[in-house]
Amino acid sequence: MRMTSRRGNLFIVSGPSGAGKGTLRERLFRQVKDLVFSISCTTRPPRQGEEDGVDYRFVDEKTFLELIDTGRFLEWACVHDHYYGTLKEDVLLELNRGKDVVLEIDVQGALQVKDACPRAILIFVAPPSLDELEKRLRNRGTEQEKDLEIRLRNARDEIITSGSYDHMIINDNVERASGELQAIVLSYRIDPQQEYLEGME
Ligand code: 5GP
Repeated sequence: MRMTSRRGNLFIVSGPSGAGKGTLRERLFRQVKDLVFSISCTTRPPRQGEEDGVDYRFVDEKTFLELIDTGRFLEWACVHDHYYGTLKEDVLLELNRGKDVVLEIDVQGALQVKDACPRAILIFVAPPSLDELEKRLRNRGTEQEKDLEIRLRNARDEIITSGSYDHMIINDNVERASGELQAIVLSYRIDPQQEYLEGME
């Protein structure tokens, strides 16, 4: 019998705040088994209902800077005036166990990971328009006006960078968009060469 050791895929989901990537990710985890979500570290204060170690690891700035200095991050970035980062050891451990890992991170971080791991799969979730994005952010009501303006400004820059991504999903309809995300993830689980070789044995 031929032994195969499959290394997991690294999926990176990015998109402007309010594009709906969190909702798509939740649906993906309900529909597709054996996915691991990487819990980021952040210096942003928790929002109402957010839990430490579930949504994020909430750390202070001193701790975050120490993690940078000791080389613990796969990537990190300053987004909307706060630090966010992905711990290297967590991701590598899961990939080596053959698990597919999903990072939900901004475009600066995504491009850092793509440089370090060219096999990483970059998926961009875009809103149907910037007007619609502003409407969603205002309805969500989780940000003060100043933060909302920063998020809208950053959204424009993120959409410009999305040209470097492997896949683009326009989230104008949650059902369809989540179906697309699911199809993209599952398509990377098929290894035609492996199936072909197994057929020869
Ligand atoms: P929020 O504060 O709304 O949870 O997230 C703000 C932005 O930071 C989102 O675009 C989110 O994807 C991004 N983000 C979350 N975790 C990380 C991370 O570990 N690294 C980077 N680079 N961005 C992150």
